[in-house]
Amino acid sequence: MSTGVGSGPGGAGPAPVASGPAPGDGGPGPGAAGARPAEAGPGRTPRRDPVLSVRGLSVRFLMPGGRRVAAVTGARFDVAAGECLALIGESGCGKSVLASALLGLLPGNAQTAGSALLGDLDLLAADERTLARTVRGRLIGLVPQSPAAHLTPVRTVRSQLEETVAALTATRGRAALRAAAEAAAERAAFPASHLDRHPHELSGGLAQRAATALALVGGAPLLLADEPTTGLDRDLVDRTVDELRRHVDEPGPGNGTGRALLMITHDLAAAERIADRVAVMYAGRIVELADAAAFFGEPGPRHPYSRGLLQALPDRAFTPVPGMPPELGDLPDGCAFAARCDRATDTCAAPPPAGTVACHHPHVPEDARA
Ligand code: SF4
Repeated sequence: MSTGVGSGPGGAGPAPVASGPAPGDGGPGPGAAGARPAEAGPGRTPRRDPVLSVRGLSVRFLMPGGRRVAAVTGARFDVAAGECLALIGESGCGKSVLASALLGLLPGNAQTAGSALLGDLDLLAADERTLARTVRGRLIGLVPQSPAAHLTPVRTVRSQLEETVAALTATRGRAALRAAAEAAAERAAFPASHLDRHPHELSGGLAQRAATALALVGGAPLLLADEPTTGLDRDLVDRTVDELRRHVDEPGPGNGTGRALLMITHDLAAAERIADRVAVMYAGRIVELADAAAFFGEPGPRHPYSRGLLQALPDRAFTPVPGMPPELGDLPDGCAFAARCDRATDTCAAPPPAGTVACHHPHVPEDARA
């Protein structure tokens, strides 16, 4: 991984979305954004200083023949302790690439630009040793998309928990490790009676809880949940996101402010159930950043794509967004949603403006329900 994206054709271009009025918007260097308080709003929790502060994050994949794929462009957001930000959008919009960038898990042909401050540490500039030893597990707990695949199949949950406790904490000694593993399981509502089972002996819900227990062991201030409800039935989705919400709200180890949660999902019902704020991603850009209550309730989304996503839900208009997303390797100069948008005009051939809604003609509260 290297830096250097953002100049020349196909570069980052204008940062599309600000998370609030932000003097100096456009990509401060490392250390410039970490102390800015997260913005106030009508979410469930009062905003605190951000745990994670992302500015101008871009990812390009260099393909054979010199082609560049703009997977993420100019992402900008904060996540505070005790807050859940849901990053939503269709498959292939760049959500999981963004998560991989934060964890330093991009493939070798990726170039990154911008910054992602976790405390004083810029995740995009950190070397692999730092990421492996201090970030993954300790500063960021990953709740994976496929817990059954994430767990080691030939070992019991207890053994995997004990190993993780030994790796991420100062706990030593057989009895102490056993007690710490049982405490970790209890925090994730994983039943002690199932600790000696192998992953294939667990239901989907219990596998998810086992994976969550592993994510919580290191006491990470940031949880990153990547499609944590994929493949679960509705009842299990609700229980999973409720449990994640509980981990956001309860004081984390060593602090009284709760954890920050970045949840990446295409499941809008899950996002509505858990999120304080919502970031909508389309064709690699965050096109709208909004308080969840206003986004899912009144006045509703302002970006036409966000509005289309909600209208596609079965309990709303049940009308899919027409057309298909553009190829990330062949994005237009102007708005990438133009070919699917019923509000498009000639103006949309120019890049959308920066702001909380990256659109030339956003819905205003008076017509958001029209
Ligand atoms: S109105 Fe224009 S800028 Fe806004 S989403 Fe539609 S095409 Fe894009």
